[in-house]
Amino acid sequence: MNINSEHNAELDYFIEKFGASLNHEAIIKEDILRLGVSFGEVSPEKNFSGKSYFIFSFNVDNDGDVINKKYPEEISIENGPYNLKRTIISVRINKTSPYIIRSDGNSEEYKLYLNDIFMGDVYFSPEKSYMLKKTSSGKSVRDVAPTIEWGYLIYLAVFRMCQYFENQTECAFCDMNSNYLNQKKANKNYSAVKLVEDVLDSLSIIESSDDSEAGAYTLTGGSIIDEIKFKGDTEIDFYVRFLEAIEEKFRGKWISKVVVQAHTQKNLKRLKTAGAYIYHTNFEVWDKNLFENICPGKSKFIGRDEWVKRIVDAVSVFGEYKVIPNFVAGIELSKPFGFNNIDDAVNSTAEGLEFFMSNNVIPRYTTWCPEKTSKLGKLGNSSAPLEYYVKLLLKWHELHYKHNLPIPEGYGAAGAGKAEFSVSAFMDAFKVETT
Ligand code: SF4
Repeated sequence: MNINSEHNAELDYFIEKFGASLNHEAIIKEDILRLGVSFGEVSPEKNFSGKSYFIFSFNVDNDGDVINKKYPEEISIENGPYNLKRTIISVRINKTSPYIIRSDGNSEEYKLYLNDIFMGDVYFSPEKSYMLKKTSSGKSVRDVAPTIEWGYLIYLAVFRMCQYFENQTECAFCDMNSNYLNQKKANKNYSAVKLVEDVLDSLSIIESSDDSEAGAYTLTGGSIIDEIKFKGDTEIDFYVRFLEAIEEKFRGKWISKVVVQAHTQKNLKRLKTAGAYIYHTNFEVWDKNLFENICPGKSKFIGRDEWVKRIVDAVSVFGEYKVIPNFVAGIELSKPFGFNNIDDAVNSTAEGLEFFMSNNVIPRYTTWCPEKTSKLGKLGNSSAPLEYYVKLLLKWHELHYKHNLPIPEGYGAAGAGKAEFSVSAFMDAFKVETT
């Protein structure tokens, strides 16, 4: 058996073993997210929404021939031998992935193959009319306010540089600043800092577009260290200015989600008053030793225990289930600091999930993309095994059920065939009836 057919057999093994408790869509989605995809030729005629590189590259490979080509932001796959319901997946370019998307002669129809085995029909993220429009200052809406998750989420990364990089204390899985520099080379209009006026203009264009299906927006960007500040602003000063302006003009139109560092209650109350509905402050990895090694900036400027405490304290400001911190699933197994085996990694993260969920916090995750431009990528890391993701999905849902938690708000629909959240399968894996 060669390595390629071994991988197909491995996927079949997990589907057979866990298919009764976990839908096929979720298992296959995790496998595609962790390994990325490669593309055959994509017809220049094809109309689709291209990758906007909205915050990170989310590509394993970021050579010039990748970043200068147009690839879809997301794909959906359907049908195939597993009879998949529509499954929306973020596109992560990996030139050596066993997952390949190509057309078979007809340039408008694309299919997904796993080592030459047909896996399903592929559709590219649709181009929305508003993405092609410009603000009054001439900025592209795709750059200022792209939508992801098949149009559900407006992604407002208003500061696409992180100050942790300046101290070489960036999170080891993160490629934010190199993504900015790469994109700036490919697109001179790609901006590090956005203007409130451009954001408001873009949102007005989206609001008035017939084809908008947005239900939420995320306001985020790189960390601003309070001791350093950015042009005199603390992190809260900076992001609150955007939030107040957006909420004053569009209150109630979309669910507001804010991703910033772990802040004191005084700062959180400023965010809440300005209109933040969901608070995300990402703990990235639960294990204390891993947090300190993989997130040295967060460790140095706030500290792991304080970070965790602030997450739980935030519930009294935002309310139960409205604090939704992210972790990067898979970095528990990264070299050189990670666990040596899958069960230890899952057990460690499960301890964190249990802790947060028992405090009415709903942690969620993105599947780790080992970008070669991140520190972990430069150390030669590749993705975590599929077994880890299958076990994590089962554990996440077991604990979510045990603590009787709701489906988190601001993530669109849940369940196979419905989920829009594209960077992990935790929303796909909900057992809800589909029509
Ligand atoms: S806080 Fe960490 S993950 Fe977030 S942008 Fe900065 S370095 Fe990247």
